[in-house]
Amino acid sequence: MKFSHPQADVLVPGGASAEEALRRVTHLCVGAHQDDIEIMAQSGISDCVDDPRLAFGGVVVTNGAGSPRSGAYGSFTDERMITVRRDEQREAARIGGYAIQVQLAHPSADVKRPGHRGVAADLAAIFSGCSPRVVFLHNPADRHDTHVAVLLRCLEAILALPEGRRPGRVLGCEVWGDLDWLPDAHKVALDSGRHPELARRLLAAFDSQVAGGKRYDIAAAGRRSANATFSASHATDSQAGITWAVDLTPVTRPGGPSIREFTASLIARFGADVAGRLGAWA
Ligand SMILES: [Zn+2]
Repeated sequence: MKFSHPQADVLVPGGASAEEALRRVTHLCVGAHQDDIEIMAQSGISDCVDDPRLAFGGVVVTNGAGSPRSGAYGSFTDERMITVRRDEQREAARIGGYAIQVQLAHPSADVKRPGHRGVAADLAAIFSGCSPRVVFLHNPADRHDTHVAVLLRCLEAILALPEGRRPGRVLGCEVWGDLDWLPDAHKVALDSGRHPELARRLLAAFDSQVAGGKRYDIAAAGRRSANATFSASHATDSQAGITWAVDLTPVTRPGGPSIREFTASLIARFGADVAGRLGAWA
């Protein structure tokens, strides 16, 4: 497969062609940066590890040039950091047994530009090249601008597909910010508590971040445990880890709401719920 940016990178750990590997993908995650996939989609990675009929595909849209760096990596140029982060993502894909790992290597600024032809063409090739039953994306209330831009570009690519070719389910997952404010009807509890050793190794692959002082490995594991314990006040923990996701599937259906309308209505419901409870006990 040929993608638009000269630094785009495709890894097929199992050795098939990229087209073949992509076609097999049942669980697809498209994230902005290297390591977003491993924070968002541990449940999908686990599903595919547990069942050989399933196949996980990872796509990283940006090039990692703006990554924070310190310690041994402190003096690295953006160019060197791009190489380090690309190789870390490749290692995670091997550890996780992904069917395919694509890194599109776009600068963040291009992803934030609606209608950027290279970004649009690459995402169109990805989404039309597979038929995933579930797609893991960033959530619309994430606080990271590039995460939100990647989500928007992905939704545009999905909506451009013929109706019958759209993914079965589209989920927006936690990275920068939690989703525990979501009304229950839109909340999906992804079981990210299986394979804790695999989860640890996946995040440890991103040494440039972890060793640089961003302990995503500890933070992601802690959030998953906290979500599981605090998910239901009257029940004992039935899962060791939960990643919350918002079900974005309605946005990808004909006549569905725009992502802005959809998100605004969820936030309004949250506000009404809080006001209602405060009013009930005043
Ligand atoms: Zn990110």
